[in-house]
Amino acid sequence: MFKFSDISDMCIKCGKCIPGCTIHRVNPDEATSPRGFLDILKAAEEGEIDIDKTFKDTVESCFLCNQCVEICPNSLPTDFMIESARAKVAEKYGIAWWKRAFFFMLRHRWAYDLISKLGFYFQTCGFKIEEGKKSIRSRFSLPLLHKGRLIPAFRKKTFLQKYPEKIPAKIPKKRVAIFIGCLANYNYTEVGDALIEILKFLDIDIFIPKKQNCCGAPAYFTGDFKTTEYLIKKNIEYFETFIDDVDAILVPEATCFAMLKKDYEEYIKYYMPDWLERHKKIKQKLFATTEWLYKYTDIKNKIKTKPLHSVTYHDACHVGKVFGIRKEPRELLKNICEIREMENPDVCCGFGGITIQSEKFHLAKKEGLIKAEMIKKVDAEFVSAECSACRMQITEHMDKVGDNKLFRHPLELIAEAIKEEKMRKREGKEREEMGKIKKGN
Ligand code: SF4
Ligand code: SF4
Repeated sequence: MFKFSDISDMCIKCGKCIPGCTIHRVNPDEATSPRGFLDILKAAEEGEIDIDKTFKDTVESCFLCNQCVEICPNSLPTDFMIESARAKVAEKYGIAWWKRAFFFMLRHRWAYDLISKLGFYFQTCGFKIEEGKKSIRSRFSLPLLHKGRLIPAFRKKTFLQKYPEKIPAKIPKKRVAIFIGCLANYNYTEVGDALIEILKFLDIDIFIPKKQNCCGAPAYFTGDFKTTEYLIKKNIEYFETFIDDVDAILVPEATCFAMLKKDYEEYIKYYMPDWLERHKKIKQKLFATTEWLYKYTDIKNKIKTKPLHSVTYHDACHVGKVFGIRKEPRELLKNICEIREMENPDVCCGFGGITIQSEKFHLAKKEGLIKAEMIKKVDAEFVSAECSACRMQITEHMDKVGDNKLFRHPLELIAEAIKEEKMRKREGKEREEMGKIKKGN
């Protein structure tokens, strides 16, 4: 049985987690710091404080950025504690109807597909799309919600609808499956397009498992453990049907990747231990795309184009802080781009999840503006991160601070370099042919 006090008692009160804590930066209070959260959760468990609206408000203010977990000398899983506390809050206060409706869509792809289709056809009617040469919104067709909020546009075809289940290579070097994640499936389909381009270029067999479900992160971060558990089981059972046939499952989205690999393990360990071995087998083949491309392919040697763009790279929390994947995307990008580092690429963008984005947007906005101002100071054409949630948050706040840099997932930049590389080779061949013809004359 999971007890908050087991983990809280391991906190040595060193305070190392406080200076970088996202919520503490925008709301400097001991109660909203990792150390404070641990104390409060133990106090609630022991009946010293009530699970009331103040408690709810406090535990819902954590951004789940994992900075505290990375820096803590005891690696205390504060994020997991907060998620479990949110489940207790959900038990007492329930979950808002519209969040439950959203989680229903996450459990049933047909419903999400339907909403996405309707969203595509009606998004220009219900929302205003701003025109204007300099507007980031117009460049990305970002609909503008009321109260000035931006949301990403839906696409005519989702990533999963767009491609066949199998895309074989002529002489395959490896075989991988793609777990695309909801944002890249429904909104930022260019991420998956870029991954397909890259894998084809590397002669890798591609398998797109069509029955994949949402990883469950939005529900987990909201304390809807029923939906979380349903999706964990569904995904593991489905992954088991093909795990022996692939070398890796590639996940181009930081949050989905962390959810599948790290959060599933944590949840399973405490709430469904019978599934631990089944998850362990799958976990070994789960990779963030930049990590896998860097470690297991020769892509670095295959692209010889000169730097195409200047880019500043933001470390998405769920790959950077959770897995320490910081070097890999930079190593891939530095071949093809000039990287101009921002002051602190590790500072969270402030996305925070569905509750922070909807009910506590004032917190997301404070942190988002810090990040956007930091990006604005860098003289670069693009900002990049391996995460579409960061993309949403960063794009929205760059718009607020008047920065017109464009956002590109690292895979998009790599795919663009591949196109250049192919063109360079084609032109080289053409020059060679011309030379031969001239000699013949
Ligand atoms: S997960 Fe992030 S916001 Fe939450 S307590 Fe830890 S450092 Fe602070
Ligand atoms: S870094 Fe870890 S041990 Fe130190 S105060 Fe924070 S949670 Fe406690």
